[in-house]
Amino acid sequence: MANQKGSSNDPLDFLALTELIPPALNRRRLEIRSALETFVRPVIDNYVEKAEFPFELVSKLQELKLFGLDEEGFGCKRVCPLEKAMILYELARIDAGLSTFYVVQGGLALRSIELLGNSQQKSKYLKDMADLKLISCFALTEPNRGSDASGLETTATPVKGGYLITGEKRWIGNANFSGVMVVYARNTVSRDVEAFVVNSKAPGVSVSVIQRKLALRIVQNGHITFKAVFVPEEEKLEKAKNFATGPNVVLNSSRIMVPWVALGMMGGSFEVACKYLKERKQFGAPIGSYQLMQEKLVRILGYFNAAFLQSWKLLTLPKCDASQSALVKSQVSAMGRECTKLARELLGGNGIVIDSYAMKAMLDMEAIYTYEGTYDINTLVTGRALIGIPAFKASFKL
Ligand SMILES: Cc1cc2nc3c(=O)[nH]c(=O)nc-3n(C[C@H](O)[C@H](O)[C@H](O)COP(=O)(O)OP(=O)(O)OC[C@H]3O[C@@H](n4cnc5c(N)ncnc54)[C@H](O)[C@@H]3O)c2cc1C
Repeated sequence: MANQKGSSNDPLDFLALTELIPPALNRRRLEIRSALETFVRPVIDNYVEKAEFPFELVSKLQELKLFGLDEEGFGCKRVCPLEKAMILYELARIDAGLSTFYVVQGGLALRSIELLGNSQQKSKYLKDMADLKLISCFALTEPNRGSDASGLETTATPVKGGYLITGEKRWIGNANFSGVMVVYARNTVSRDVEAFVVNSKAPGVSVSVIQRKLALRIVQNGHITFKAVFVPEEEKLEKAKNFATGPNVVLNSSRIMVPWVALGMMGGSFEVACKYLKERKQFGAPIGSYQLMQEKLVRILGYFNAAFLQSWKLLTLPKCDASQSALVKSQVSAMGRECTKLARELLGGNGIVIDSYAMKAMLDMEAIYTYEGTYDINTLVTGRALIGIPAFKASFKL
């Protein structure tokens, strides 16, 4: 018997959770889905296989007008957090690499200027970034400073008219084709972490792309070297006075959205698994008729609902504390790991082929579990809030 639960006869919407999304936004979501099914789905896995960014899709993404600000202004429209969540979900439902591109361009780089920049900087950059005419990246992580990013070693030395940036950044999405880089560096005089908009073509900037990645293959993660790169004074983002008022502000706002990347993959995995269980026959019957198969599918649905509710609730909190977003990001990505693994298993051998989506999502989920704070670090952020004692630092040093 076909499922009659939920609001739309969609088996994934078993508890009618889409009723938590305002109708106009849900329609927008379905329009985006339809467009992505038409122009992304048929080609994206060719790029995944080759580990190339799909530049041919940029003009189509521009037409969808996916990027915006908290408030309309500087030539940009308003895109509320729930709409961003829906966009991330729909992109990840097809390819988490594309969803991650949205995180980096919109949630991290554009957001750094929106949250930390002054009016001149916003006028100069935001519209072109929102229109995807200016691609950008967010350069925080360093070869020796990953989880420990607040100890970053890249320096900004004050000189006449600006700063000289020196150091290395690693894992920086979009780095090799960005026009501008938002770079976090330590002021050599104040010793505080500050933020700078760096022209990617400035003398002294060089990028090599990290090769042979098995997750988020279309995302081009760069290793950037800055050798005494001059940045004019007016390119410093003035609200970033230190780590807490700089990168932390941006990461806290972005971390609320990242669970929706995981959710998109959980939803996409459920969809392929549910379909396969009805179509694939073994021992003379659909494999979905076997109890073991049904249990795994139901487990995916259970995780999905738990993850959806936590992620949705986070977006509706009037003020979201970092320990709350850390809880949801860590738990949803952990549940996402389970879901994608189960879907891969349900698809048997076909589950390891790119076209089946399942294995691609399983590998991509490893990156979501890791970026914007690993599962461990986000868990420790929540643990500190619960117990009142930070547990980040080892009691001994080598
Ligand atoms: C695909 C991808 C895209 C990324 N994109 C960007 C980007 O665009 N811009 C950017 O700036 N960065 C980016 N990153 C970097 C990302 O944020 C870091 O990978 C992440 O912060 C973890 O740092 P690390 O990889 O150096 O791991 P490490 O910090 O070296 O951690 C290794 C292991 O040790 C554990 N660990 C570390 N410290 C502790 C502790 N105190 N207690 C317990 N366990 C601990 C971690 O949980 C992890 O399991 C990206 C990473 C990936 C994989």
